[in-house]
Amino acid sequence: MSTRTAVITGASAGIGAATARALAKAGFHVVLGARRLDKVRALAEELSGSAQQLDVTDAGSVASFAAQIPECHLLVNNAGGARGLERVENADEEHWRWMWETNVLGTLRITKALLPKLIDSGDGHVITVTSIAGHEVYDGGSGYTSAKHAQSALHQTLRSEHLGQPVRLTEVVPGMVRTDFSLNRFEGDTSRADKVYQGIEPLTADDVADVIAFAASRPSHVNLDQIVMKPRAQLNGSRAHRE
Ligand code: NAP
Repeated sequence: MSTRTAVITGASAGIGAATARALAKAGFHVVLGARRLDKVRALAEELSGSAQQLDVTDAGSVASFAAQIPECHLLVNNAGGARGLERVENADEEHWRWMWETNVLGTLRITKALLPKLIDSGDGHVITVTSIAGHEVYDGGSGYTSAKHAQSALHQTLRSEHLGQPVRLTEVVPGMVRTDFSLNRFEGDTSRADKVYQGIEPLTADDVADVIAFAASRPSHVNLDQIVMKPRAQLNGSRAHRE
């Protein structure tokens, strides 16, 4: 079988970078995209893949990224994240805009751009990394939970709209994962970010990447629709057991 191409968005760090490694190990040619070109370039070199700058919030950037990809078998919609933890009464519109642009419209743009190539491949697969925040709510989380709910709805709609076509759709739904996620959410406040992971063993980016690579390596008639994964000590977005 000829080499299959996997495109990973947000591959410069965290879950995206770990996924690029896991998919390269599984035999995919990996194409990495993120805003930090130096990071994706260095990783692509290590994995004998390729890298391009990608800002999923910018339609022009998505169009030129997609135009340079001749064929695509797997798209991992991973670029995203959270900003802030304000209650609705204090909601910061800039934070909301960032989260909706990146998680929701970003996923929409890149998926729209690559879907024809995924279907033309005869065996396409879209894996979207949403979150447990896409399936529940918690105090202070409305900007992020609403964006992740919307991203999940978008992903699930694709599963229905393309039923019967050669494209699989898998939603990976992680709980707490230790990455730069909280540091970015709290705009560089390390002590606030560290508190998120205090007294609990969170998932690692590699844990999530393993599951993505597993879903991607099933036979093409097997569709893993939704995979929810959390640390053992986490029940949901509001409740975890901490030592
Ligand atoms: P991370 O370490 O902050 O990584 C986020 C990635 O997204 C980076 O590679 C970043 O790259 C990229 N990104 C952000 N804005 C982008 C844009 N406009 N265009 C292209 N790429 C962009 O966080 P992570 O934990 O790995 O998050 C990955 C995904 O998992 C996100 O969708 C997040 O919501 C989801 N998730 C995370 C957790 C968690 O606890 N960590 C739990 C559930 C779900 P650049 O900055 O270089 O562009």
